[in-house]
Amino acid sequence: MIFLLCISAVLANFNTQYVTDQLEIQQTNLNSSKTYLLSMIITQLPINNYCLPLLQIIINNQTYNDSLAYSIKANIQKVYFDQTENITIKVSCNLLEYFQNQKNINKTMHFNLTLNEAKQHIQSPCQFPHYGQNCSLSIQQIQKEFSVTILILNNTWFYAYTILDNNNYEVYVQNGESLFGISIISFNKVNVTRLPSFLQNFVVLNTDNNENQISLSQTEDSQDSIYIIGLYNFNSTQIQEITITITCPFQNEEFPFWATILLISIVIFGLLLFLIILCHYRRQYKKITQIKPVLDRKVLKKYMPTKKVDSKMSSDTCSVCLVQFELKEKYCQTPCNHYFHEQCLYDWTTKQANCPVCRQGLLENEINQLQEVKKNRNLQAEQLNNQESIKSKEDPPSQTYRDLPFLQLSSSPFRTQCKIELDCSPQGEHSPQIIQFDGSPQNLTNRNLYFQSDGIVESQN
Ligand SMILES: [Zn+2]
Ligand SMILES: [Zn+2]
Repeated sequence: MIFLLCISAVLANFNTQYVTDQLEIQQTNLNSSKTYLLSMIITQLPINNYCLPLLQIIINNQTYNDSLAYSIKANIQKVYFDQTENITIKVSCNLLEYFQNQKNINKTMHFNLTLNEAKQHIQSPCQFPHYGQNCSLSIQQIQKEFSVTILILNNTWFYAYTILDNNNYEVYVQNGESLFGISIISFNKVNVTRLPSFLQNFVVLNTDNNENQISLSQTEDSQDSIYIIGLYNFNSTQIQEITITITCPFQNEEFPFWATILLISIVIFGLLLFLIILCHYRRQYKKITQIKPVLDRKVLKKYMPTKKVDSKMSSDTCSVCLVQFELKEKYCQTPCNHYFHEQCLYDWTTKQANCPVCRQGLLENEINQLQEVKKNRNLQAEQLNNQESIKSKEDPPSQTYRDLPFLQLSSSPFRTQCKIELDCSPQGEHSPQIIQFDGSPQNLTNRNLYFQSDGIVESQN
């Protein structure tokens, strides 16, 4: 009895070697209360790599296969099953669609099939981005807008993933003359890594040295889509190099609002800074270059206000520029009763604080002094006039004293000469009488002149 049981247990297990491209066998003597593991160990892949070796178990018309076998060109494929007595085992090399039209396709492979009882069917799921047997492999992340060069072993898959945003992206692949296949699959990030089959979206890249371009469009349901990129090196003997770049060709996104505000702020700040610097330097420049006028402009405006030339003085000339005044030109009159073009006087008083003609000081205190002197003389003249009028009432007016001009001379320290012309002849039969005084200012003050029939005479008293 014990011996028989042993035989039935031995019958369920097997380990057989095959050299074929297609296999289908039935296994009927299984124990439905046990869990089994069917393994395929490939010892030699088909020569030209155009197909995918695949192990399948069919139970009640339902097919089970090693999901990883779709993703990795695995040398070992494993399928667990239980609760059945009959299974159909299928092994095939599924031709990749891209190579359907190839001639001389050899799909023959060498493999071992083993069937064993399994203690427990526990296949712990791998955490993203790990995958493979015992989760020992991991998917490498490719950053957007970076170029990555990857070395891929012969007859090997390489997996990478990238996380994209709302934009559309382009994948550029440079594989030179090496034969590579690529499969890009959109993938919702979950805790468990279930690599998609590379049979989906599988593209064999051109080998004409040009860049291959694949567009990735954003899936609508997820904010950040993960794309898994599978790259397969078809070369059976050599490691090959491939460069991959993921880039966003169009910036669909509008310029962010905060960036606009920041940019405007920077521009305004820059302008303000520029203006402040400009003002500072202008002030400095003015300080350096501007010559302070000797005579304060306020004094000019207060005591020598600007007036407009009228017809009465249009025949006079400005003693600074020697040009005749024109109607409505601006002029200034000094307290010493000299006239100049406004600009001529302004220019003169930047260098000197006196009258260009008589050298009368034009500083405020000098003007006040002059006005004081004028006031006193006017008072004296008034008193004298009053005395004269009293005198004339007492004595009838003499012919010689009529139209007496009373002349008082300024005591300016610069005055050295005085020339007086009088023409009092009503018929103009006499030429103008001229009297000249020369000498020191003391000599010239308070001279009394009288007009007589034979000319101007000076009174000595
Ligand atoms: Zn002038
Ligand atoms: Zn003057």
